[in-house]
Amino acid sequence: MRKFYITTAIPFVNAKPHIGFALETVQTDALARYHRLFGRQVRFLTGSDENSLKNVQTAEKEGIPTEALVKRNAKFFADMHDYLSLSNDDFIRTSSEERHKKGVEKLWQACLENGDIYKKRYQGLYCVGCEGFYTPDELVDGKCPEHETVPENIEEENYFFKLSKYQTQLEELIGSDKYLITPKTRKNEVLSFVRSGLEDISVSRSRERAKGWGIPVPGDPNQVVYVWFDALSNYINALGYADPGQLFKDFWTDCPERVHVVGKGIIRFHAVYWPAFLMSAKVALPHKLLVHGYITADGQKMSKSLGNVIDPEAITKRYGTDQVRYFLLSEISTTGDGDFSYTRAEQRINSDLANDYGNLASRIFKMMDTYCGGAVPEAGKPGSSDDELLSSATSLGLKVKDLVEKFDLNEAIVQTLDLVKLTNRYVESNAPWKLFKEGNQERINLVLYNATEALRIASILLFPVMPGKCRELLSRLGVEEKDITLAKASEWGLLKAGQKISAGEPLFPRIDRNAGIPNTEDRIQKKAGKMEETNKAESQTKTGEIGNGKSEVAAEELIDIDYFKKVKLRTAEIIAAEKVPNADKLLRLQVKLGGEIRQVLAGIAQWYTPESLVGQQVVIVANLKPAKIRGLESHGMLLAAQDKDGVVILNPQRKVETGSEIR
Ligand SMILES: [Zn+2]
Repeated sequence: MRKFYITTAIPFVNAKPHIGFALETVQTDALARYHRLFGRQVRFLTGSDENSLKNVQTAEKEGIPTEALVKRNAKFFADMHDYLSLSNDDFIRTSSEERHKKGVEKLWQACLENGDIYKKRYQGLYCVGCEGFYTPDELVDGKCPEHETVPENIEEENYFFKLSKYQTQLEELIGSDKYLITPKTRKNEVLSFVRSGLEDISVSRSRERAKGWGIPVPGDPNQVVYVWFDALSNYINALGYADPGQLFKDFWTDCPERVHVVGKGIIRFHAVYWPAFLMSAKVALPHKLLVHGYITADGQKMSKSLGNVIDPEAITKRYGTDQVRYFLLSEISTTGDGDFSYTRAEQRINSDLANDYGNLASRIFKMMDTYCGGAVPEAGKPGSSDDELLSSATSLGLKVKDLVEKFDLNEAIVQTLDLVKLTNRYVESNAPWKLFKEGNQERINLVLYNATEALRIASILLFPVMPGKCRELLSRLGVEEKDITLAKASEWGLLKAGQKISAGEPLFPRIDRNAGIPNTEDRIQKKAGKMEETNKAESQTKTGEIGNGKSEVAAEELIDIDYFKKVKLRTAEIIAAEKVPNADKLLRLQVKLGGEIRQVLAGIAQWYTPESLVGQQVVIVANLKPAKIRGLESHGMLLAAQDKDGVVILNPQRKVETGSEIR
């Protein structure tokens, strides 16, 4: 079986995991699961980087021993396994494990014996957050570009690694894609860094500066190994580099695909230093490096002071593990920067999972129950009108494989969801409920069989993204775990006639916007943070004035209260909704407004499916003159808010009597 080895970076454990690292582990996990689906023997490693000075400083602040801090915090990272459904085969801790310490010593010794480690006096600018040196021109306003802190000026005698010796080899390695860096922009960034000329790098620090924490340099207990030299070697140490056996052979030396996934901030360590250390030690090199971007919250950089830090554990509690995995993998660009917003997360979960995917499953289950006695029907020969569905479904697996191998997780998901949407349209256009009235049981059987097969295939291909929900759905269809493979997803007709189907609860309950704000604290906090900022900014320019953000509104735009009172706003309940034929954006709504029922047209079809609207309370401009749109009368206007994430309709915070006045 072809082997595949994949790792996440190991994070400093001086704080709890943030959403950026959650993204990285979920990406790595999905890649690991996809490759298992493709029939490969996969090993997936993650862990914690514990020998950094940052940990010592954090422990000092908390007044606890460093060992206690890293042990406690490493657990926060290990816990991600459960709440993010990770399938890692191993978790390595760099401060407490013998296999790591021995591996670091062996790698050091090998580089030393190759003549690449020497001692010299050194002076430089050191950022503790990065655990790295900067040259003055790499700083932004004299500060570390990652941490925005002023680096320390360090002067001491250290061991150095002859990085400069590997310049040509590194240029060839990266330029030729033998070490393939994705995306290309990052590859070019690294290449230009290498071409600008490599200098030797410090690979140790004094024991004193390290405050006695870290792995001692072999043969020189007054120095400890530089934390990055130490940390990078975790990728081979976890496989038993210190004392190589079958595992090291299978997943490193003989493994045809050795892949690292990292964030853009630490690319230099992985693309330049790491392969150079390995070349020096005469160890095989990694093959691929996937670099992801950073996540903002509502378009802003996350920070404690803004109160907008997204806790990955909290959002999984709020939306569900698989829903969060789906959002991170489909919404956030796999290789670029992305944004997390609650609104967007709720929209994607509702539209893609509750409406498209979840709804397809419930419809099929319901119809199977009504028309086929709750079992998979015997299907006749498909006709030409079934071709599109059959060929789209059976060819999807190889397309997904191709995309995943290129690390394009976003597009792999889009194409799988396209199959779900196509299947929904197939059910819609074949309308089993009409066939039932016509007594065409044969066609009902075929249509439902085909739709269920397409659902099975889509669910197998979504399994690496949402392992819990897809396993559940597949088991309701009678598909066993061993049949969740690419091979089975590429074959048509595997569902057995007569197989009992168990419908169960809906897999993806809709998130009710009103009920879905349990986490109001962060929102209020964030709002407060924003207000504070506004106030600050305002008070700088307009002394004594309380900033309310509205003082700029020109006088002629202001209206008096009587003017406003002319507009009659009322609550109404949507009792029916449907698409307007040949109009992409329009929905035709029947609303109950007090004692009367009205028809209102609303341009929200892009954002809401008709089914999702029925039963919702909305706000209507009640005294708007009736108008004709596309030949249909619209009496009233639905209120909605729009921002860059799309359109949301306004609902009262709790149910009120329909027709209630709004003032
Ligand atoms: Zn830094």
